[in-house]
Amino acid sequence: MSWIENRFEEGLIITSLDAAMNWGRKSSLWPMTFGLACCAIEMMAFGGSRFDVDRFGAGAFRATPRQADLMIVAGTVTYKMASRVRRLYHQMPDPKYVIAMGACTVGGGPYFKYGYHVVKGVDMVVPVDVYVPGCPPRPEALLEALMRLQDKISAQTIARPATRRAAAAAPAPEPAAGPIASPAPAV
Ligand code: SF4
Repeated sequence: MSWIENRFEEGLIITSLDAAMNWGRKSSLWPMTFGLACCAIEMMAFGGSRFDVDRFGAGAFRATPRQADLMIVAGTVTYKMASRVRRLYHQMPDPKYVIAMGACTVGGGPYFKYGYHVVKGVDMVVPVDVYVPGCPPRPEALLEALMRLQDKISAQTIARPATRRAAAAAPAPEPAAGPIASPAPAV
């Protein structure tokens, strides 16, 4: 028997529905098994026994986007891969979250100036919840990002503000699927 049992009268509501749902969501973030470049090695270390992301309930890396609710974009996002990243994002069920890991993913990194083939920030492709700078970021930095994402989830509510009811009645625009055009190369 845990310390909290038998402490409250029957019928007393000790948590809100929001708190219960957010606790469930933040404690069972399942990342997609998905790496694009060298940052993915650090992501693998984050999932290994030394750093042990299972402590946070986020160690169940899934091999399909349909069972994942966390996309860790780890590595250089090229224009060729961008449409694939977006397609995988669309295949994940809601609610879903994105961590942009590493300088390349956050803003182009070492390819910012001359990398004609690199997307200058994955937030041009999918919405990002937490950014992790570094080249590459350490696994501890990714653990910190996971905790910040859990904080963000803890603040979510299923209630809709009255002022937004009318706007929410209209369907939210989704980013268009399909290939993403690369800009003209600099001369
Ligand atoms: S940020 Fe650095 S370590 Fe990460 S993918 Fe880019 S070059 Fe590789």
